[in-house]
Amino acid sequence: MKQVAIIGGGSAGVMFANRMRREFTPNQVGLTVIEKSDKHHYQPAYTLLVFDLDEPENIVKPTNELFYEDVKLVQDEATKINPKENTISTTKHGDIAYDYLVIATGAKLSLGEPEGMLEGLKKGENVHTFYTMDGALKLRDALKNCDGGTVVSTFCEMPIKCPAAPIKFILMAEDTIRNLGKRNKFKFVLTTPLPSAFSRHPYMEALNGIFESRGIETVANFAPGEVDHEKGVMKSYDGKEVNFDLLSITPPHEGADVIQNSDGVGDAAGWVTCDKYHMLNKYHDNIYGIGDATDFPTSKTASGARKQAKVLTERFKALLAGKEPKATYDGEIICPILTRDKRALFANFNYTKSLSPATESYLNWVLKVNMLRPLYWNMMLKGLL
Ligand SMILES: Cc1cc2nc3c(=O)[nH]c(=O)nc-3n(C[C@H](O)[C@H](O)[C@H](O)COP(=O)(O)OP(=O)(O)OC[C@H]3O[C@@H](n4cnc5c(N)ncnc54)[C@H](O)[C@@H]3O)c2cc1C
Repeated sequence: MKQVAIIGGGSAGVMFANRMRREFTPNQVGLTVIEKSDKHHYQPAYTLLVFDLDEPENIVKPTNELFYEDVKLVQDEATKINPKENTISTTKHGDIAYDYLVIATGAKLSLGEPEGMLEGLKKGENVHTFYTMDGALKLRDALKNCDGGTVVSTFCEMPIKCPAAPIKFILMAEDTIRNLGKRNKFKFVLTTPLPSAFSRHPYMEALNGIFESRGIETVANFAPGEVDHEKGVMKSYDGKEVNFDLLSITPPHEGADVIQNSDGVGDAAGWVTCDKYHMLNKYHDNIYGIGDATDFPTSKTASGARKQAKVLTERFKALLAGKEPKATYDGEIICPILTRDKRALFANFNYTKSLSPATESYLNWVLKVNMLRPLYWNMMLKGLL
């Protein structure tokens, strides 16, 4: 019997653990998930909260209700991975041994930079982030109370979770204000550290066209170095300035502390260094990475985690049967971009190519707003989809 330990019971960890349990009996494979939080958030709905398209009670569930029987949940924080000993140190449960380790620790917000961002967020008046549930609710209220001025959506650097989320925010904010009949009192701006709002064809061209037609300004190659919430000014490292009355900021992201504290597992920013097809850690042949925790060169999304969980389970099936694993992750992700009320565009691509046309449709909206959350709780997390 092999022991598989999983650090992180977020989207990727739960999907993988439950898929594995469906394939292997407890006598074949022991599955232990170490998760520090007792609440699991369906993060893709944070964007919906901002626009009253979902409610907090629908998007949070107790972590211990998510697993099949015989997946052992250890509610604790993993503090260090010891690859030489094949153990994980934890805060309360001592060292946990494994034959195989799957790291699913996600991405965390890095709030130290840009300068002034944290003060602005703490003040909670004109600087907000919807990258937490609490932040999404505050931004929702701030937008409702905003009577005019410049609304800015910014992301500081890549990689971030769901790179389209700051784009969804500005598009939906503009549409909401337009529908309230107040568009002439507002200016809408997206700043991006990239050369364009979105980097993949044909979504890039489609989004650029939508921005232009609706008068939403894009400030490209803008890497924020300072946020002055008192003056309502954001400055880039190379001296450019963008004024705001309401700023929605996506802070920089980094890998989990446990990766940064463990030698030979990740890179300087704490991303688990993995082969992008096989998901195997570059330094250890019994350690894998899955989900946002990894350095896979694709967007950090739950849709990607779902596909990775499927592939990794297939690889374990072969591996534990003594065969050569064949299944590979091609980098596929699907990112639903709400463009306006009742319309959404799906960006679907893998490492090498785009897989869907850039079409805004009502069907896409219904999928994103009404169907994905129930599918997530009832099918995806259970490893059924
Ligand atoms: C605003 C926003 C919008 C998004 N929109 C979409 C979207 O439309 N579509 C989409 O597919 N995706 C979207 N995402 C991204 C999606 O939520 C993530 O890609 C997904 O949650 C990744 O799953 P994960 O398991 O890798 O990370 P997470 O779900 O973040 O889970 C990581 C888990 O690891 C745990 N952990 C970390 N360190 C430790 C430790 N040391 N010990 C124990 N436990 C630990 C954490 O507590 C956490 O539960 C969005 C995200 C955000 C924030």
